[in-house]
Amino acid sequence: MKRILPVLLLLLLLPGCRNAATQKPHSAVGYACDTVITITAYAPQEAVDATLKICTDYDRVFSKTAEGSDIWNLNHANGAPVEVQPETADLLRLAVEIGEASGGAFDVTIAPASALWDFRSETPVLPDADVLRAAAARVDYRNILIEGNTVTLKNGAELDLGAIAKGYIADRVAEYLRGEGVTAACINMGGNVVTIGSKPDGSAWTVGVRDPNGAPDQSKAVLELTDASAVTSGTYERGFDLNGVRYHHLLDPKTGWPVQNGLASVTIVGARSDICDALSTACFVLGEQNSRPLLERYGVRAIFLYSDGTRSDYPGE
Ligand code: ADP
Ligand code: MG
Repeated sequence: MKRILPVLLLLLLLPGCRNAATQKPHSAVGYACDTVITITAYAPQEAVDATLKICTDYDRVFSKTAEGSDIWNLNHANGAPVEVQPETADLLRLAVEIGEASGGAFDVTIAPASALWDFRSETPVLPDADVLRAAAARVDYRNILIEGNTVTLKNGAELDLGAIAKGYIADRVAEYLRGEGVTAACINMGGNVVTIGSKPDGSAWTVGVRDPNGAPDQSKAVLELTDASAVTSGTYERGFDLNGVRYHHLLDPKTGWPVQNGLASVTIVGARSDICDALSTACFVLGEQNSRPLLERYGVRAIFLYSDGTRSDYPGE
């Protein structure tokens, strides 16, 4: 034992050996926020598994449909102030900021309009035009009042955080893993990707941007990400074809109808996934030209893919 102890100590102190246990990637696959989550990290399996609970816990807070969630409580408060979790207040503050910065193209009070669309139905139908118009008239992020952790929805506003929650949660997962000392990980929440560092061999994480006109596994671009997030909003994610028109889940808050501007997808690459998530939706609604001030303000990169197969890049910082 006397002779073994120094050898053991030496092995523990050698950095290569100390890290050996964490140099193998572990993965976890789960389901939250209506999407499949895949997390791969050079970390012990327990740490990777713990991230799935973070996702399902936040999903319970931000869900529109889970009774008793912060968002459910707000949507059922009839305009009364509601005390929410600090994270919900933070997320709503960012949502209002981007609502303002995008001139209302991004609007988390889209719920009355988005609720009229069922993109999963086997026999999809269009909502009644008058009903949709009336719903869209209730969409206005300026009806969200936030004071500390108290939120009030005015004028019958209702929330749908579908365009920003996944990004926010992906950021929290990355924060947790970093806190655990993880230096290499890739978090994929249904196309919302966040990476930590690069792989231990020094190579960057790679993420494919789907070709909107190709098969689901066909890429139009491959991004190399190191400590960055990439988020795509695409017409192929959720939608249906009817009479030659693609009706999809990216809605114009002014009308409640899916945006038809020739775009098939917008990908945003930046440091924060919550911002990238919101901007991917905002820029899709705004279109390429009108997105420039927003892209500049947040210092992000963007890839615009059109349904005619063309591609246009905004360089970012
Ligand atoms: P995905 O959910 O496929 O990742 P997005 O992040 O772009 O795509 O979010 C789309 C979702 O956000 C829609 O399903 C709807 O719930 C909501 N939404 C649709 N249009 C808007 C909009 N203009 N502003 C904010 N939220 C929107
Ligand atoms: Mg989005």
